[in-house]
Amino acid sequence: MTLTLINPADETVLAEIAEYDLEGTDDAIARAAQAQRGWARLAPADRAAALRRFAAVVDAHREELAQLEVRNSGHPIGQARWEAGHVRDVLEYYAAAPERLFGRQIPVAGGLDVTFNEPLGVVGIITPWNFPMTIAAWGFAPALAAGNAVVLKPAEWTPLTSVRLAELALDAGLPEGLFTALPGRGPVVGERFVTHPLVRKVVFTGSTVTGKRVMAGCADQVKRVTLELGGKSANIVFADSDLEKAAATAPYGVFENAGQDCCARSRILVERSVYDRFMELLEPAVAGVRVGDPADESTEMGPLVSRAHLDKVASYVPDDRAVAFRGQAPSGPGFWFAPTVLEPPSRADRTVTDEIFGPVVTVLPFDDEADAITLANATDYGLSGSIWTRDLSRALRVSRAIDSGNLSVNSHSSVRFSTPFGGFKQSGLGRELGPDAPLAFTETKNVFIAVDD
Ligand code: NAD
Repeated sequence: MTLTLINPADETVLAEIAEYDLEGTDDAIARAAQAQRGWARLAPADRAAALRRFAAVVDAHREELAQLEVRNSGHPIGQARWEAGHVRDVLEYYAAAPERLFGRQIPVAGGLDVTFNEPLGVVGIITPWNFPMTIAAWGFAPALAAGNAVVLKPAEWTPLTSVRLAELALDAGLPEGLFTALPGRGPVVGERFVTHPLVRKVVFTGSTVTGKRVMAGCADQVKRVTLELGGKSANIVFADSDLEKAAATAPYGVFENAGQDCCARSRILVERSVYDRFMELLEPAVAGVRVGDPADESTEMGPLVSRAHLDKVASYVPDDRAVAFRGQAPSGPGFWFAPTVLEPPSRADRTVTDEIFGPVVTVLPFDDEADAITLANATDYGLSGSIWTRDLSRALRVSRAIDSGNLSVNSHSSVRFSTPFGGFKQSGLGRELGPDAPLAFTETKNVFIAVDD
């Protein structure tokens, strides 16, 4: 069986690659378990050095990885270069971790008490198609640093950078079997990670529907799980904000990666008194988003990932639907969808409640601070969000009141490898990135040694 990969910018067949079946998956897990034992026994400094070598090899192949992502996922080349550099940065950051997993010594009566951070064993990472290499690195870098082996299942449509990263790990000298990428189907390879007893933790990033299924499956073995799921984040614009800047940046808060971003600020909420002015400013900003060939250096937004996804996004904007305004998109082959701004008829409209995961944004007015908070929280998701205001007290009040894992004030930044990332409510469980991430790949073990008087 093979996976057929399509270049989303021109619909040509990019590659046919062999997919893993159950037997191949079991074999990779068994090899990972074997490799992990030696890896965990390495001196922390040696594990750190191996991860630094891996980072260096990724650095030397940044352009190749970026070009692969352009062709396989349709990411604009500038963005894809950033992603490849981010993978290197994440590896370098967590290369410092093996020598900093100190455990603890706690004074007790009658002896010596030591708490260890033991690796889990084999970690299964399941990734979505929207940011294939960065999301994989958020899992594999801290997992490897903490002494685990990794089996990685990339999404069916976008496996190429994950496969290449696993090859680069071997080139860097990581032990054979320690880190394997297994292109394959979710219900085959992904589910096997959930059911296989040697996989001690599953890190799942994807839709909330599949995440719930993974979590339920993991319950059977009380398997550890981290979930990074969907989002429907708010971009709240108060009347006292720098309105020009808020409007100029709003398209980049939602249309980056063609809106296929779990942190997309896909609900713009604007204080009623400045609503009309904001819309006047937003229209040229949306028209100015450069949509086109992802290989072109000046492109800001590429195509959607697949025909199936294009159809899903388009179903939210049927021909008879009133649209406030739209940006541009190429015609001809490729999965193109123009940036689209909607003024929904009600707060309950499905364009306001559903994660569309495409370049479609709704704009709604709000009355006051309390109304803005109510609207922002009126969702089962809670991943990200932005607050535009010049009033620092308000910025803090609103930040604390919003049920969301990552907020930015006067900015749309969500992800830094050095700070924690993850969702409230149905946007996820657990956190990735930041200094504590390796601990999520360990079990805490306490040992008491009695000392004779
Ligand atoms: P998806 O749930 O369809 O697939 C995600 C992964 O799960 C794929 O690798 C898929 O093959 C696999 N899978 C499918 N069925 C499975 C099963 N039964 N058991 C185990 N694995 C299975 O999601 P998608 O469409 O690829 O990705 C888009 C979603 O991901 C959006 O909802 C988006 O918000 C979310 N996402 C979240 C984050 C975050 O950090 N919170 C980041 C990126 C994307």
